[in-house]
Amino acid sequence: MQLLDGKQTAQAIKDEIKSTVAEMTAEGKRPPHLAAVLVGNDGASLTYVGSKVRSCEQVGFQSTLIRLEDSISETALLDEITRLNKDSQIDGYIVQLPLPKHIDAGRILMAVDPKKDVDGFHPSNFGKMALDMQAFIPATPFGIVELLQRYQIDIQGKECVVIGRSHIVGRPISILLSQKGEIGNATVTLAHSRTQNLAQLTRRADVVISALGIPEFLKADMVKDGAIVVDVGITRVADDTHPKGYRIKGDVDFDAVAPKTSYITPVPGGVGPMTIAMLLKNTLLARQWYHSA
Ligand code: NAD
Repeated sequence: MQLLDGKQTAQAIKDEIKSTVAEMTAEGKRPPHLAAVLVGNDGASLTYVGSKVRSCEQVGFQSTLIRLEDSISETALLDEITRLNKDSQIDGYIVQLPLPKHIDAGRILMAVDPKKDVDGFHPSNFGKMALDMQAFIPATPFGIVELLQRYQIDIQGKECVVIGRSHIVGRPISILLSQKGEIGNATVTLAHSRTQNLAQLTRRADVVISALGIPEFLKADMVKDGAIVVDVGITRVADDTHPKGYRIKGDVDFDAVAPKTSYITPVPGGVGPMTIAMLLKNTLLARQWYHSA
């Protein structure tokens, strides 16, 4: 069993981005600039956005955090989006999800300029990705692909089961792994809450990508010997013995599953850090593709 070390790999990617930014600034160009819109005070969202902003600082990006009240109207938020779309000093931005219930998240994401959509959530980017065209790929699936690539794991012709069909993880990773391309050419099954006999599917899989958000859902008897297991799940589980009062759990029963695998991602320290690194990568690409002036 070998650990797929997302923390170390993400650091290597950040170091590469940092030296590209240093070259840009040495040539007198402005560094990439990422903005993040955070509505309300959700604890997990605050943590995620905080680490995204800190990561920008680490690689020499400019960053702007826009914090808005929970009570903001959809119209006012759309005005903010329009302002960000027009701001020539901002290369890319994200709108941290979830948004309050009175705001239609779909309408907000549709308003984001696809050239600044570094989360890759706009239908224009999603469609281009599905058609093998240049596009921003959502950071988590992009991170998984990058991690597999950097560990030189060849998934061509392999049977891959993705658990979870969300628009931000399961669906896009199923598309990427089945694409004809450098990383891809796998035979992909996309499982979800209505899938029957899931264990039968996962037991024959060479690669299992779990993105459903149920702690320790994937048990040892659900994977075959030598499988590659990627755990996307992040769930806060209450734990009074932990200083934070909770512990982060993945979807995989790690201690039991890991010895059976050839490669496995830990949680934390697997897909999570890769997601942030690929958001930075997308912001650098936005600067290079669309905002090079
Ligand atoms: P989601 O919560 O939107 O959807 C969950 C998916 O799991 C659904 O498609 C559902 O059909 C499927 N599902 C639910 N129960 C199932 C079952 N019993 N069997 C099979 N499928 C089932 O998904 P999401 O937003 O992709 O998040 C999934 C997990 O990944 C969460 O824990 C989330 O926190 C985590 N996540 C991590 C990162 C990261 O950077 N590591 C990024 C995004 C999401």
